Amino acid sequence: MSTSSTQTSAVALSRRDAITLAALGAAAAALPTLALGQSGSAQAGKGASGAPSGAASLEGPQPADFARLKIGELTAVLLSDGFGKLGPIGQFFAPEATAADRDRVLTKAHHPLDVATVELNILCLQIGSERVLIDAGSGGGMGPTTGRLIDNMRAAGIAPESITGVVYTHLHGDHLAGAVRADGSQVFPNARHFIVKAEYEYWTGNPVDMRDTGLPPEARSGMVASIQKNLAAIKDKIEIVAPGDKVFPRIQIIATHGHTPGHASYMIDGGSEQLAVLGDLAHSHVLAFARPDWTIIFDVDRKQAVASRKAMFDRLSSDGTLVAAYHMPWPGLGRVAREGEGYRWDIAPTRR
Ligand SMILES: [Zn+2]
Repeated sequence: MSTSSTQTSAVALSRRDAITLAALGAAAAALPTLALGQSGSAQAGKGASGAPSGAASLEGPQPADFARLKIGELTAVLLSDGFGKLGPIGQFFAPEATAADRDRVLTKAHHPLDVATVELNILCLQIGSERVLIDAGSGGGMGPTTGRLIDNMRAAGIAPESITGVVYTHLHGDHLAGAVRADGSQVFPNARHFIVKAEYEYWTGNPVDMRDTGLPPEARSGMVASIQKNLAAIKDKIEIVAPGDKVFPRIQIIATHGHTPGHASYMIDGGSEQLAVLGDLAHSHVLAFARPDWTIIFDVDRKQAVASRKAMFDRLSSDGTLVAAYHMPWPGLGRVAREGEGYRWDIAPTRR
């Protein structure tokens, strides 16, 4: 527990932000719209001068984002659900750091000091006749630049009906909400949903203890209500699993608890090659690596989140395993390397 920093960051969120948070409960890890806005929809169709787009303008919605890859003998596709922006950075990241320390780390990496882009990268795996997603996207809960998973799946030739399994790193809205439409119907009607026991029990518990997060109370209750509603919508398809289990059976579950109580990472066995899939062990390709002891306000147990991040980064930097990471710059493929007292995110080529 770090009660004092928790309170500080909760207070630092303005009333307006808090309201946004409550409204977005669904988006969970999602806060905000604070700086959302991208080129996308709002600007589409008009150039800088307000003239109709076409040859005169390069503005407009982002194109479909998907990237095919092979993991040993397995075929896979990385799919974008879009991206959100979290800012001011200090209201979300490293609540235990001074602004000067945080800015120093960001400046060294040429990272903006105000806002961080948080991508939503989803892995789709073909394992025999099974087609499996790791996490289900946000369903658009992080604003107009998100909720693109289904469009990008279709662009890649993947019908939502062809998905036979969804394996969750954890249940925050940006990982779960994409599985359920606003009317409660299932987006992947033929999928079983695999959830780690500790994660399921935490979010369906009463009350859900979120004292260690930096979220305002109304955001906490909105988040819990949304997660419970989405879980209810897929109830008949949920399969409870545990760290150490193998599903499908090439996906091994690794306990990386802390961000949430049942947060899991996965090791994909492609035969000649392995791929580690990280959920929310890192939300910034700069801060989480340079200073793995710095947290994010969504962490349910900050101390455990830090311990899990360090343990996994240690392992991955020692063995050089290829990594697919949910929130890293698109398409989120890279490796973890040691650097100084911390680590570094090394981008790996997607076209291999
Ligand atoms: Zn997340």
